[in-house]
Amino acid sequence: MKCKRCRRAEAAVDLPSHHAAFCTDCFFLFFRRQVTEGIRKLRLLAPEDRVLVCVSGGKDSLVLWDVLMDEGYETEGLYIDLGIDGYSDRSKEKVLAYATSRGKTPIVVDLAKEGIPIPEAARCVRMQECSICGTVKRYFFNRVAAEGKFTVVATGHNLDDETARLLGNLLHWQRDHLARQHPLLPGTDEGLVRKVKPLWRVSEVETAAYGFLKGIDYVTEECPMSEDATSLVYKEALSRIEDRMPGTRIVFYKGFLDPSNPLRKGPEAAAPADAVGTPRACAACGAPTYAETCSYCRMKERVRKARSLRAAPVSR
Ligand code: SF4
Ligand code: ZN
Repeated sequence: MKCKRCRRAEAAVDLPSHHAAFCTDCFFLFFRRQVTEGIRKLRLLAPEDRVLVCVSGGKDSLVLWDVLMDEGYETEGLYIDLGIDGYSDRSKEKVLAYATSRGKTPIVVDLAKEGIPIPEAARCVRMQECSICGTVKRYFFNRVAAEGKFTVVATGHNLDDETARLLGNLLHWQRDHLARQHPLLPGTDEGLVRKVKPLWRVSEVETAAYGFLKGIDYVTEECPMSEDATSLVYKEALSRIEDRMPGTRIVFYKGFLDPSNPLRKGPEAAAPADAVGTPRACAACGAPTYAETCSYCRMKERVRKARSLRAAPVSR
């Protein structure tokens, strides 16, 4: 099959959802155009932005960093070492190797050194790893960005991630979550840095193809904690629908983002669901919060208490 764009070279990537197939060079153009259109349409980034790209070692975040650098944005990478045996070391290796190949040194936050490695913290407080991980990652994304004077934090969530989240929110009628779901969460004067998801228009398959054809070496294994993640069930369901009806995912998500959709309040609804009043500084760390202390500090305190209880000798 010939490339649908240049009509000369053999097609290397077949994209049924776009009724297209492209040779490698035309696919690079197509993919980058999808990302830049996604950025332009929702005004995610400005040319003068300093972008902190959160990189996990997986394909999405490394591809995002690659595209943003190629598009001329000023970027630095942030890697958070979650302290997951084996997996974290392998992911970090990929991040460091990629960064070196582009003349960069990523910022690394080591959760073991911060006293909150995810698996051990989850055991201590008997919570799901992913809920702790979400809180901790969000905290460091914002803290590193604020301390480093970045104007925006970018994550590698793609169309599959966003539609799986949307389906989950709809199935459970999570109205607050639906109101806030958007590829752009604006910053606030109180210290929340703007957050964007520039890959919202491209699928997981397209991102993987871009990474592979570009020769980006990423970690292919899933995080071992993701096995029970319900988001994988939603992704699988949407993949089956997409296989039978190509293009459904993007129609689903674009329809949701339509400003006339009453379920969505838009990027201005950035405050968390439990937010009451105006944000203030966390009494322990100074991060923006709606409570006395931020959710990260509260979590860390719970882990500290659980650890000291475990360490205390049992009295008879
Ligand atoms: Fe964190 Fe869970 Fe994702 Fe693993 S699967 S990186 S623990 S949120
Ligand atoms: Zn705090």
